[in-house]
Amino acid sequence: MWHSVINPVLRIFTRFDRREEELVDVVTTSTTPGDLDAVIDAIDDFARNRKWLMNVGDEKGAILDAAIVRSQPRLLLELGTYMGYSALRTARVMPDQARLFTLEVDPVRAAMAQKILAHAGVADRVTVVVAGLGDAMNDLGFETGSVDFVFVDHRKDLYLPDLQRLERSGWLHPGSVVVADNVKYPGAPEYRKYLRQAEGRTWRTVTHHCHAEYQSVIRDIVLESQFLG
Ligand code: MG
Repeated sequence: MWHSVINPVLRIFTRFDRREEELVDVVTTSTTPGDLDAVIDAIDDFARNRKWLMNVGDEKGAILDAAIVRSQPRLLLELGTYMGYSALRTARVMPDQARLFTLEVDPVRAAMAQKILAHAGVADRVTVVVAGLGDAMNDLGFETGSVDFVFVDHRKDLYLPDLQRLERSGWLHPGSVVVADNVKYPGAPEYRKYLRQAEGRTWRTVTHHCHAEYQSVIRDIVLESQFLG
């Protein structure tokens, strides 16, 4: 498929043209500190009209928002912070007392996201952790059954191993919700297959058909899965 060629090229290109630094600059200079809506809009505008970013984006972001509003979580976990876009959206709709921990393996990206989150005024409710799930588990030390919501948006080959890690952790409870981005594009086929096999036994999954971020041609799928225990 053509995107199996385009994607690695895009990834390498976006890695070295310093678009993330440019984004931090634009966001912190063009929006008022503490104006969460303006920061989210500025990131969408940048990614749509200046340089593409691999954020969940506005279309799929609305699916994420709705899932959070439905489940009213207290403790949320995100795998893959990138620039903090989905963390901003999450902070905007999660209950006031809720807390989000967002994991990012790249320390440079984590620092940039931290800057944006602080500028938007949500740093007290969102904690950026520089680690993958496996390494972060001991430090996070969540109580059994305490994680209400997980957004999975990191390396596609880690979707399934990290979901299984979460199952083994005991952090989830019946009713915990896991939302996963990019299940069709770039794609996480093993993750999707696993949830299909688990349907009605350990998970119940809703498939959201949508488009990949910031365009209307490439199709994508967001999965919203409820843990049955
Ligand atoms: Mg994504």
